[in-house]
Parts: sequence; structure tokens; C-alpha cells
Amino acid sequence: MLIDGHGRTVNYLRVSVTERCNFRCQYCMPEKPFSWVPKENLLSFEELFLFIKVAIDEGVTKIRITGGEPLLREDLDSFVRMIHDYKPDIDLALTTNAYLLPQTAQKLKDAGLKRLNISLDSLKPEVAKQIAQKDVLDQVLKGIDKALEVGLGVKINMVPLKGINDDEILDILDYCKARNIKVRFIEYMENRHANVSLRGMHGKEILAKVKEGHTIRALGREGASPSFNYALEDGTEFGLIDPHKHDFCESCNRIRLTAEGFLIPCLYFDEAMSIADAVKKGDIEGASQVLAQVLKDKPKENRWSETPNEGEDISARAFYETGG
Ligand code: SAM
Ligand code: SF4
Repeated sequence: MLIDGHGRTVNYLRVSVTERCNFRCQYCMPEKPFSWVPKENLLSFEELFLFIKVAIDEGVTKIRITGGEPLLREDLDSFVRMIHDYKPDIDLALTTNAYLLPQTAQKLKDAGLKRLNISLDSLKPEVAKQIAQKDVLDQVLKGIDKALEVGLGVKINMVPLKGINDDEILDILDYCKARNIKVRFIEYMENRHANVSLRGMHGKEILAKVKEGHTIRALGREGASPSFNYALEDGTEFGLIDPHKHDFCESCNRIRLTAEGFLIPCLYFDEAMSIADAVKKGDIEGASQVLAQVLKDKPKENRWSETPNEGEDISARAFYETGG
């Protein structure tokens, strides 16, 4: 079992397989970064898998593949299959913008993937284009349909932004209700890479919008998940992820691995340690030692609740690097 320096059990590993993306979402990667991580610095699937085996053997039971856009990495289904074959009962999920799902969903399902979280910020083509800075909606909706058709579990993530898509919260709820899938509204998390003019909606404002169309009942947090769940009058459930409150930090169960091998204990902070040398040498003991150190150093909580000072205190972590 993996226990961190604050006594929390860590059993959830998020693995970013690339920082590259085919979208330029304003809250994440509004512009192409000055330079990408050179291809030779990216860990191969075999190297990532060596660390994943260590993590599973030591107590990880849930793995999420993310990015950047993970479906940009060629033959991702072979990576899914490696993990699935090693531990078929692992809770294996993927977060994606869905753009490439029409051609990949079946292969991923066949390889052993169980669930998908899909980002859907708008149902209006022009607004989706404004956020992703590309005309994406039609393909994204096709991707969601394909995922449902092949039998993958689907959840939707929406980041409500003031003056951009804040009038679509009820529409996204309706869209999900009609397909019997759950939506989680995520508070916009300020970071140095995002478009500075963006204003996110606070959890309370998001709930107020939902209440314009529904009566809602609080259900509570789902285990160690950062999502607080609510039910509409007819039982339809939705979630709210509100890191500005950071009350979920006390049960945080996750660590993150980047595509070049940095093991990150908290999404907010810059601190990280590399497992790259260890996995390149096939050094299982070395990888395990880095994991132990990162757990020991895991911060108690994030700092999104603090008012940022002239940009200085905003998180410098890029979501496209850590995988959100
Ligand atoms: N490209 C995939 C996608 O968009 O789903 C996976 C990576 S993306 C970084 C993972 C999640 O982080 C997405 O749901 C996205 O909406 C969320 N995200 C990115 N930047 C964010 C921010 N500044 N605040 C809140 N959520 C953010
Ligand atoms: Fe790409 Fe996902 Fe970031 Fe949008 S949120 S730019 S789709 S990594």
C-alpha cells in the first residue's frame, strides 16, 4: 500500500503520454508552446509501463491515461493492452477531447479500456471553435457517439467560463441526461499558460445556473474523487469539481507521471522527481525509491483558494503537461 507523508493512501496514477495537442483551448494551451519536449526525451510505452508495473505492485488500482491529447500518440491501444494484460481488473480510463475517437474508440475498447472522460465545453459550433481555437464540435460529437456505440463508459467534463459558455450549463446537462451520461462541471483553474482574459465561474455560480432549471439535492463526495455529486429532481446526477475550496485535498489519492518521466505529487505545484533514468536502465528498485520520495513530499493541499498576486502566485504548471 502507498501512504504519503500526510497519511493519505495513494492508489491512483494519472499518466500523461504526450504534451502535444490538436486543440488550443484557451484555458489550457492557447498558443503552441515555445518548444515541445524533444521526441527523444519522451518515454517509450515500455518505459512508462515499467514504472506502471512498479506502481501497481505497490498498490495503485486506478490508472488514467491523459495528455495533452493522448490519442495523438500512435498505437495508444497497444499501451492500453499492456496495462490491461498485466492487471485486467485495474480501473483503466482515458481523458480525451474526443476528436480522434471515431477512428480509435473500438480499438481502445478491444484493448481493455473501460472508461472515458471527454471534454465538451459547448454545444454551439462557434463557441466550441472560440474555446478550442479550431472548428471541432461536429467531430467531437461524433467521437462521443462512437464511444457510446462501442460500449465505453463516458463522463463529460465542462469548464464554464464567464461570457463564453456560462449560458450552456443547462444545455450540457440536457445533452448528458438524454444519453444517460454524467457531466462534471470543473471550476476554471488559473495558471500561467492560460489566456489571461478568461474568467472562470465559481462552484456557487455554477450551481445557481443549474438551479435556474432544476431543484437539486446534494449527494456528497464519491470516495476520494474531487467531484462533489448532486442529483436533479428526477435523479439525474452531475458533479462539481471546485479546487478553489480544496476540501478534497485531505483525501487526495493521486500522483501524476508526465510523458518525459516526471512524477508530480500535486497538480498545483512545480515540484517533481524524474523516474526517467531508472526506467531507461530497467532499474525497478530505483523507480520504487523515487516513488517513495515523491509520496513523502506530497503537499498537504493546493493553493487555488488563495488570491493570486499579480500573477506571481498562480500555478506555473501547464495542464497539457500534467494531464489535468
Ligand atoms: N486533451 C484531453 C482533454 O481535453 O480532455 C486531456 C487533457 S486535458 C489537460 C484534461 C482536463 O483538464 C480536461 O477536462 C480539461 O478541460 C481540463 N483543464 C485543462 N485546463 C484547465 C483549467 N485551466 N482549468 C480547469 N480545467 C482544465
Ligand atoms: Fe488540448 Fe485538452 Fe488542453 Fe484542450 S484541454 S488544449 S484538448 S490538452
